[in-house]
Amino acid sequence: MLQKYEPVIGLEIHAELMTQSKMFCGCRVVDSVEAEPNTAVCPVCLGMPGMLPVVNRRAVDFALLVALALNCEVQSNNIFARKNYFYPDLAKGYQISQYEFPIGLRGYLDITLSDGTIKRIGIRRVHMEEDTGKLTHLSDGSLVDFNRSGVALLEIVSDPDIRSGEEARAYAMRIRQILRYLRVNTGDMEKGVLRIEPNISIRPRGAEAFGTRVELKNLNSFRALADGTDFELDRQAALLDSGGRVIQETRGWHDARRETFSQRSKEEAEDYRYFTDPDLPPLYIDEAWIESARIALPELPQAKEARYRDEFGLSDYEASVLAEDRAVAEWFDAAVAGKGAGASPKTLANWILNDLFRLMNERGRSIDTLPVTPAALVALLGQVEQGTINQTTAREVLAEMMDSGRDPSSIIESRGLAQISDEAALTSIIDTIIAGNPGPVANYLGGKENLLGWFVGQVMRETKGRANPAVVNELLRTRLERERM
Ligand code: ADP
Ligand code: MG
Ligand code: ZN
Repeated sequence: MLQKYEPVIGLEIHAELMTQSKMFCGCRVVDSVEAEPNTAVCPVCLGMPGMLPVVNRRAVDFALLVALALNCEVQSNNIFARKNYFYPDLAKGYQISQYEFPIGLRGYLDITLSDGTIKRIGIRRVHMEEDTGKLTHLSDGSLVDFNRSGVALLEIVSDPDIRSGEEARAYAMRIRQILRYLRVNTGDMEKGVLRIEPNISIRPRGAEAFGTRVELKNLNSFRALADGTDFELDRQAALLDSGGRVIQETRGWHDARRETFSQRSKEEAEDYRYFTDPDLPPLYIDEAWIESARIALPELPQAKEARYRDEFGLSDYEASVLAEDRAVAEWFDAAVAGKGAGASPKTLANWILNDLFRLMNERGRSIDTLPVTPAALVALLGQVEQGTINQTTAREVLAEMMDSGRDPSSIIESRGLAQISDEAALTSIIDTIIAGNPGPVANYLGGKENLLGWFVGQVMRETKGRANPAVVNELLRTRLERERM
């Protein structure tokens, strides 16, 4: 059906900002699931008449970081407006938001699709506002918790550039990753601190004009976003095919039934009667403020991925896994910066992705509570490079580093793990093995050269795996040749 129609999708994303206090009052921001209801409230966020809001500077810092990370033109002139509507979770009767003068305009975000191609999605605007309270509906009434009311909220609105459920998901995941990189949002969709609402329409392929759009609400996972979007695209196509028309409405996503359902129709555009909030003076963000935010901006995940691929020769997969989480990426970056001879970025990446991650999983450790420092991993790989220990032993040492936090050289020394490279010691072991195994020696000399591996194995057994394999190989070969004479 979608061969006939082209999907047109734009996303509105709401992200609570991780500030200590709320957007316009001093109330602390508490966990909306765990905190006692209505314990973090004051006359300002309860909407008492006569109370004056004051802008949270930290929230503006955070919003500025996001606007810059999304390549927006930062607006110096910021004006807060009242968006008027009545709802039980909004005590004032209006929400303070930004309307004509938001902090960021005309940005973009590049997303990577599953076939590896990169697509640029326009960002229409980024604006600051406040969150509403939370309603809980029971059979005999509704409860309202104002703890969340007034929490700093950022809205990120994309252009209608998205063309499928998969693209919607890729875009939303990138936004979440960037918000987490900037440490302005935890990305915890289950707790509702990040909320994603796609606007979805279709038009006949080749047509210029957009079709009527539907806005999808209560999507609490990326899967729900992709599946809900695809369902809605199919529903609209079937509707048009059967001669019907799409009506502009808000629809919900039923996660268990995997279908959308009508919530409220929006036939006429809502009139919020926006006007400048007379309680808040214009907020001027000067060049120096913007510049300090620019300096505070960390290297973003896309830039890290590109650097890992192009400079370090990592695969797309390795690059994206290492760049996924900022703390992991910075751990890797620190290891690369301290790399000794032999520990190439590729080698370090392999050790992190295979061994370190496995040990972290087994021990339930996160990167923030890791007893192993990047420098300690580099030191460990230096010991492999110098031939003090082999790869297998290095894995054992790393496991012990995870448990004790000790440095590799002291573990190697106290447990006597250093490789035996001493020729005299190895030669005497080899002599004993050759004397005790006349059969295999005869076969080897008779042409079964691959028996060399068997001899190496015997030496390893005698030395509990600590013999330097390169040295053993060399010594064995010469020693066996001497048996010919
Ligand atoms: P509103 O203010 O009513 O929410 P906006 O014009 O700000 O409307 O658009 C909200 C979101 O909907 C944006 O992400 C925009 O890209 C998207 N959008 C607008 N028109 C359409 C359409 N016809 N089909 C799909 N998405 C659309
Ligand atoms: Mg909207
Ligand atoms: Zn308050």
